Amino acid sequence: MPSSPPFTEEHDELRASVRGFIERELTPHAEQWEREEWFPEEVFGKLAAQGLLGLKYPAEYGGQGGDFLHESVMIEELARVGSGGAAAGIGAHIGIATPPIWKFGDEQQKQRYLVPAIRGERIGALGITEPGAGSDVAAIKTNAERVDGGWIVNGEKTYITNGVRAHFIVTAVKTSREGGHHGISFLIIDRGEGVTSSKLNKLGWHASDTATIALQDVFVPEENLLGTLNEGFALIMANFQWERLAMALGAVGAMQVAYEKTVDFAQQRSTFGRPLAGHQAIRHKLADLATSLHTCRCVTYDALRRFVDGEDPLKEVTMAKLLTQRACFEMMDDCLQIHGGAGYMSEYWVERAARDARLGPIGGGSDEIMREILGRVLAL
Ligand SMILES: Cc1cc2nc3c(=O)[nH]c(=O)nc-3n(C[C@H](O)[C@H](O)[C@H](O)COP(=O)(O)OP(=O)(O)OC[C@H]3O[C@@H](n4cnc5c(N)ncnc54)[C@H](O)[C@@H]3O)c2cc1C
Repeated sequence: MPSSPPFTEEHDELRASVRGFIERELTPHAEQWEREEWFPEEVFGKLAAQGLLGLKYPAEYGGQGGDFLHESVMIEELARVGSGGAAAGIGAHIGIATPPIWKFGDEQQKQRYLVPAIRGERIGALGITEPGAGSDVAAIKTNAERVDGGWIVNGEKTYITNGVRAHFIVTAVKTSREGGHHGISFLIIDRGEGVTSSKLNKLGWHASDTATIALQDVFVPEENLLGTLNEGFALIMANFQWERLAMALGAVGAMQVAYEKTVDFAQQRSTFGRPLAGHQAIRHKLADLATSLHTCRCVTYDALRRFVDGEDPLKEVTMAKLLTQRACFEMMDDCLQIHGGAGYMSEYWVERAARDARLGPIGGGSDEIMREILGRVLAL
């Protein structure tokens, strides 16, 4: 099969190798991790040994010297783990926690955090959301008070992926009494005195440790300020496009797997003397699913191509995030329906896939926020 632009044969080779690794090393454990609501730390070490935690990072920091396209391959293939939670934990580490350090960190921050993160020795989280501020990022209240040699931080972050296991949290804080966008800064907070995590129970992504993190009189040294003081909003905006593209790619990957498995099921299972796929209603539904998958892939790859070409594809990335997350959830619901009663049983992959997919229209900027952005971009 010819490569789909923007991917080339080189990316197809990477895809085959990543897929082989994931299906060999990770997929067989997915059910256990979901049951235990945790996946082991050693997964990061295994991924690092394959170079998979640093595909887009320069070789001087231990990365593979690739780019966003290489990581895109990895993100799509993570869907084959069969655990949205494990994919989310890995994805948060490579996709949202470490990129700000790479882009905005000084040399010593890169050495202290990025290098061990690429080696899988230190795991990262991104802490922006708070109980009182999700979509409205400017409303965060976690406060950093200037003291000799650094800051004292007090506040609470919530719904943080890797929030229990993370060794460091790239954290949005208020560093100015001024309201709005200009009083936000980022501090890299090490797990230690005053940092307490509580794991949250949730509908899907069971293997991931989504947590509330209480920060009580946490001293953060001066050298852990990431980027410019009071200009943290720029840091948030800088990675949003990649985070949302990554979510779109993850949805395309999950839809591909779901489509393959559901077609297989529909060809194996018979009712009224013929395979399910032999009934027109089911065949048409599968045709619709294939069309939805293809549409999501085209829109996502178009946004990705623009992104790697250095355009500022705010409109296309926002559309890709908006389209794919809802389409993925709807597809999982349709796949579940085609599985009948089996689809409702925990032992079938599709029960988990449907729960896992529900996060997409909420996380990383909700559907409503995507529409608000499009309203502005399209000058509506
Ligand atoms: C499993 C999980 C993992 C997460 N991981 C992380 C993480 O690692 N780091 C992190 O910082 N955050 C994380 N989040 C937080 C996530 O980004 C937020 O939940 C999301 O941005 C929505 O914020 P909120 O929950 O506060 O909802 P709210 O902002 O309170 O919104 C509630 C509802 O109102 C809608 N709404 C809000 N404003 C408007 C408006 N202006 N117009 C119309 N509708 C509106 C929203 O779309 C939503 O439907 C995670 C969340 C989950 C559930």
